[in-house]
Amino acid sequence: SKIRVYELAKLLGKSNKELLDILIDLGVDVKSHMSSIDNDIAQLVEESLRGASGTEGPGKKEEERSVIKTDSYEVSKGSTVKAVAQLIGISPAEAVKCLISAGLMVPADSPVDEKSLKVLQDAYNVVLTMACEDDAENEGADGTCTVIKRPRFHGDHMEPRPPIVTVMGHVDHGKTTLLDFIRKTNITAREAGGITQHIGASTVMHEGKEIVFLDTPGHEAFTSMRARGAQATDIAILVVAADDGVMPQTREAINHAKAAGVPIIVAINKVDKPAAKPDRVRQQLSDVGLAPEEWGGNTIMVEVSAKSGQGMPQLLEMILLVAEIEELKADPTVKPRGVVVEAKLDKGKGPVATVLVQEGTLCKGDILLFDSACGKIRAMIDSEGKMIDCAGPSTPVEILGLATVPQPGEVFTSVENERIARDALSSREQDLRNAQQGGPRKLSLEDLYSQLKEGDIPQLNLLLKCDVQGSSEALAASLEKMATNEVGINIVHRGVGRIAESDVMLASASNAVIIGFNVRPDANAKKVAESEGVQVRLYTIIYDAIDDVKAALEGMLKPTI
Ligand code: GDP
Repeated sequence: SKIRVYELAKLLGKSNKELLDILIDLGVDVKSHMSSIDNDIAQLVEESLRGASGTEGPGKKEEERSVIKTDSYEVSKGSTVKAVAQLIGISPAEAVKCLISAGLMVPADSPVDEKSLKVLQDAYNVVLTMACEDDAENEGADGTCTVIKRPRFHGDHMEPRPPIVTVMGHVDHGKTTLLDFIRKTNITAREAGGITQHIGASTVMHEGKEIVFLDTPGHEAFTSMRARGAQATDIAILVVAADDGVMPQTREAINHAKAAGVPIIVAINKVDKPAAKPDRVRQQLSDVGLAPEEWGGNTIMVEVSAKSGQGMPQLLEMILLVAEIEELKADPTVKPRGVVVEAKLDKGKGPVATVLVQEGTLCKGDILLFDSACGKIRAMIDSEGKMIDCAGPSTPVEILGLATVPQPGEVFTSVENERIARDALSSREQDLRNAQQGGPRKLSLEDLYSQLKEGDIPQLNLLLKCDVQGSSEALAASLEKMATNEVGINIVHRGVGRIAESDVMLASASNAVIIGFNVRPDANAKKVAESEGVQVRLYTIIYDAIDDVKAALEGMLKPTI
């Protein structure tokens, strides 16, 4: 007769954190939301809450996700001071007066220029962005523009945001089927028959809460984004087929998620199949360090069938639970920034990029600066194919209007004007050229010692690939033993077989050195290692590998050619 903390929290309508605080106040020994407590303690909590609610009045209201207030209006190109005054909600006379006091003589009927727009914005503490149908703003006065009014960025307004989820797992274990099922049944279509667009990410609804799924399953996409500097994922769903069990890519996915510090929820899939052995999967996962919570571990596992939909609501509920525990928050009132999920050159539309807003509110007309691209947002389309004017945190949107195509994983910020964006971009390109001349920028065993001394890296990250399981285990054990008080040794991943591109990307994202024992990189991996500056060291004798790492830790390793 025990109950988990998170189950009780749900029953009592409290957040996990609130309940944990209450339990600790009561002197109960609990570690996390996964801890089990006795039923009589649960009862005690319930009673104390009932008592408290009498004295404290209505309980604390659950924080709600309020969308930042934005207004948009259609105006003709070259809109007048009068029109802008209306937007702000002041009289034309007041606007003219305000401009005069700033030394600008602009009659109410004449078009606003940038200068007067800025004066009005500052005086009335709003931000006005103008986006026109075709961006040739200086052509005649035909056509319409949308002017978006939003509060000035002020910050200090953290709000819960929906979790962003990536689905991972071995090939054929059902990642695509699972994503399709979730998208088909839970899409946030406000009107029936809404068309779902494949923009690279989709927002689905469960119990009135949003969850964002990245559409490209697999740890390769996940890690290549990370190697470019962006972490877009909050939670990883690890799909394991119950009739097949833990396979090489399952282990890889686990290590990729772990290296990124992303919590894992396991979906034990295909339980509709007669050959399904879910408990065998639980056992295998325990053996690789993911112990199921029902066995006293910390990993949530849900039995599902992506085909029939069995277990899907529970899976979505667990995603929301983990999201709550992670306390995912963002501020919609700061300058927008985010990350590219997908991008391509469309024949008709030009460069199109799907981005995920991570902070702030992105609006049509904003000028964005990416690592390798820039441009003004001409139009925004959400995952239901609807044109929208603004998008807050954790919203995936497709944007049109960029000058060039950015890469997935690039981050963006909004800047004041296009000149700033272009200048920043060209100085970045210069930096990049300089850096490339300086050779690889990632870690190598030779410069490990100097980096350790400078305190740049607290530990040596290694990725091991071996020809057979036995040598991989032996090598890992010997290497891990070499950790000293000053330097830890962390094996981000070890596997059997050729060194592949995804190994290199993981090493790049984790600043790790790859050690290959009796294996070589394939052609692709070789190329990527060069461009990413990842060091790959190949050995045929275990002791050589161990000696090199030892020498590197002591700063005694001679550079190889
Ligand atoms: P992916 O490679 O991980 O994306 O796997 P897919 O989603 O393409 O699925 C591989 C195969 O498994 C397909 O033939 C699916 O129809 C099948 N499949 C996926 N999920 C289930 C399930 O829950 N039950 C059954 N019986 N088959 C499934």
